[in-house]
Amino acid sequence: NQHLSERVLNMATSATLAMAAKARELRAEGKDIIGLSLGEPDFNIPDFIKDAAKEAIDQNYSSYSPVDGYGDLKQAIVNKFKRDNGLTYGLNQILVSTGAKQSLANIALAIINEGDEVILPAPYWVSYSDIVKLCGGVPVEVKTSIETDFKMTAEQLQAAITPKTKMMWFSSPCNPSGSVYSKEELESLAEVLKNHPDIFVVSDEIYEHINFTETGHTSIASIDGMFDRTITVNGVSKAFAMTGWRVGYIGAPEAIVKACIKIQGQMTSGANAIAQRATIAALEAPVSSIKFMIDKFHERRDLVLGLLGEIEGFQLNVPEGAFYIFPNISYFFGKTLKGKTIKNASDFSLFLLEEANVATVTGEAFGNPDCIRISYAAAEEELKEAVKRIKEALAS
Ligand code: PLP
Repeated sequence: NQHLSERVLNMATSATLAMAAKARELRAEGKDIIGLSLGEPDFNIPDFIKDAAKEAIDQNYSSYSPVDGYGDLKQAIVNKFKRDNGLTYGLNQILVSTGAKQSLANIALAIINEGDEVILPAPYWVSYSDIVKLCGGVPVEVKTSIETDFKMTAEQLQAAITPKTKMMWFSSPCNPSGSVYSKEELESLAEVLKNHPDIFVVSDEIYEHINFTETGHTSIASIDGMFDRTITVNGVSKAFAMTGWRVGYIGAPEAIVKACIKIQGQMTSGANAIAQRATIAALEAPVSSIKFMIDKFHERRDLVLGLLGEIEGFQLNVPEGAFYIFPNISYFFGKTLKGKTIKNASDFSLFLLEEANVATVTGEAFGNPDCIRISYAAAEEELKEAVKRIKEALAS
């Protein structure tokens, strides 16, 4: 370890990837593990997207693309922001990257100076806190609980702001809680930010389409006064089941986009050419083309929520989007199950892996030590079997 940088030594390994690796290990030992730890749709990519990729190969899209992405893809993103979010970005306000994860890393590198604070309503997506730290920033966690549906209130935001606050990062629909901020809730956060014009908002909208509310998705950039201080992050991983294709993008003020292009130009260059061509087809298709996936997620949400509700000690909110359930399981803390004392959510998650053969992720990784995250991006039969096993392991 003496050769390694403090930067990497201070960094946590992605807990979701670590759990997936542990589950793989147990599988290799012959155990029948049901994996509900990864945030990955289990659908095949729609054929029209595959066709666009095949065509791109035949048309020899094999050279470096422009760093910021192909012009016609950027135009498709501009149109998508207009169509789905009511946002009017210019072409010079768009940057395509290798997944939303790279978009977030670019933003952090472009904006954060040593010691700058970034407000993260907790629970938050695992990587936010480590990306911020890697770039010298200080994550400021704002704890929310099941009582407020895991959403940060305007008062909490106000209380977290200091002279060092540079940004606030959040996702709606939220990974891991499935919470969706309503237009009114976003307006109340914007009202607080009005008095702090130097704070930028990073709005991670990668689950935008996986939203079961009547009112649908609202982008915070569409709220009065927020457009010029919001970086809207999105991508094709979740809505189009294209996780491995690695395409994400941002809409942001031109100066920020330019800074991110500078960084990306030195780090990775333009995103994968074939995947970019396929993304044009994905974004140009009507949202109705992916409705079958969204409907399925909705059905599974209801199924798993209903089944988990029958287990004593699982306290549940109703996730309105994404594909996760985030039960508070603190009821089990201090109890001994099958000879194992459960002290915290990590112990509980490990207990489920070892005694129920079900892989979940501890809430500690998401900034909430009372909960675990269960992904329902899996087949119905698997989900039913998983909950049955959890119930049996806890009953014994
Ligand atoms: N943002 C959130 C909230 C996520 O859950 C994920 C993936 O799990 C990402 C970003 C990363 O997306 P991408 O695959 O585009 O890098």
